[in-house]
Amino acid sequence: MLKRQGVLAVAGLIAVFAILHLGLSPDDYSLRLLGATTLGGAAFLLMTVAVILSTRARRLENLFGGLDRMYQVHRAVGACAAFAALLHFFTVPKALPPGADLAANSLVPSAPLGILGLVLLVVGLFLALNRKISYSRWRPAHKAMGLVYLLILGHFMAAPPALLDHTSPSVLLLIAVAAIGVPALFYSIFGLGRRSARSFTIEAVNPMERATELVLKPMGKLFDFTPGQFAFIEVQAKGWNEAHPFTISSAPAESRLRFTVRDLGDWTRKVRTELRPGGTVLVHGPYGRFDSARAGTKQVWIAGGVGLTPFLSTLRAMKPGDLRKITFIYAARNESEAIFLDELKAKSAELGNVDLIPLFSDSGALARVDDLKSRLAEPLPAYDYFLCGPKPMVEGLISDLRKAGVPRTRIHTEAFAFR
Ligand SMILES: Cc1cc2nc3c(=O)[nH]c(=O)nc-3n(C[C@H](O)[C@H](O)[C@H](O)COP(=O)(O)OP(=O)(O)OC[C@H]3O[C@@H](n4cnc5c(N)ncnc54)[C@H](O)[C@@H]3O)c2cc1C
Repeated sequence: MLKRQGVLAVAGLIAVFAILHLGLSPDDYSLRLLGATTLGGAAFLLMTVAVILSTRARRLENLFGGLDRMYQVHRAVGACAAFAALLHFFTVPKALPPGADLAANSLVPSAPLGILGLVLLVVGLFLALNRKISYSRWRPAHKAMGLVYLLILGHFMAAPPALLDHTSPSVLLLIAVAAIGVPALFYSIFGLGRRSARSFTIEAVNPMERATELVLKPMGKLFDFTPGQFAFIEVQAKGWNEAHPFTISSAPAESRLRFTVRDLGDWTRKVRTELRPGGTVLVHGPYGRFDSARAGTKQVWIAGGVGLTPFLSTLRAMKPGDLRKITFIYAARNESEAIFLDELKAKSAELGNVDLIPLFSDSGALARVDDLKSRLAEPLPAYDYFLCGPKPMVEGLISDLRKAGVPRTRIHTEAFAFR
């Protein structure tokens, strides 16, 4: 779940800037100019937040509740930055104040940089929100948004003193924030985080029903992770471009890392057809906070299709005597697509605290909140819910659980898409 601390930190930064800007700017600035430059400054701060979040810094996960939530905030602040920048453009005075020294207050290059930055920002935002563009095409275009950040930085650094006082506390705050934002931008664009990735050898590529299990042997020490976390996989071979995120489906105590990859698009299909034992992959991670061990003891898990993976890792790690009482609904299209079902049945029987309920949509059985009521001993709000699966299924369940009085803080989800 998205944590409030992260959102409050972003709101606090904007508020501090606005208070400093409105309260401590030169007295001769007009109210319109102050309002417009407050919007411009807020747009820059929001863009900086978006840039910092794109570095995938693991320390920020605690503040926002996981990398998937950081990407949600990245998208939201990007959209708010574009909106604030548009408002800034429409409200900022288009001419210098009467009596201003023209030679000392040139609008060039500030104005052209700002206009170019704004146009690219709006175009970039439309591209970012367009889900029809494939991820591999969308990503380089999105990375080009880094140029917008530098243009906007140039825009306000070159702004004439009659419009912006570079020695005022609010502008010094923007400059200090830029001193973090610019290195973060280069770190993110040039993928410098890859240096912390670990190398693995592909030990096995196991085909399953519409999915492939990838078994990876660490070349050095295997990193620690918690069941439910995910990592980015980057294949070290020609024709394999960007890193893709997958939930780790093995247990932390295993000597190998296992991933279960649903054949969905170009990259995931190639996993089955082109990857061979002996190949090398880089793994970046672990990330995520989808951890059922941190919640109450009465739990309902609902997995849809390959959304099984975080629960698979959790079950594989659980030992008899675990205090949790778990109702585990595993929804798949049919029995043959319900991968690992035999292992899940055996493990649930061994543990004794997991009530596994497979549901097959081909037979008309769907994961529904109405049906849950009759399966659970206590009213729905008494449980913590862990949901992972296709977006429409998860969104529908959240909405129905909320209507049934389950607090949002007791509904835990893992987003399987970052866009
Ligand atoms: C946190 C998380 C955990 C996941 N765990 C699993 C799992 O355990 N098993 C599994 O089968 N799938 C998992 N996925 C989904 C998996 O990452 C996508 O199915 C896969 O990347 C699709 O790639 P494609 O090129 O084959 O498909 P495409 O058709 O190109 O992509 C389908 C969608 O996947 C997303 N996507 C594609 N490439 C990337 C990328 N490089 N980075 C981020 N998102 C991308 C985009 O939203 C895109 O619209 C997970 C996703 C996330 C975000």
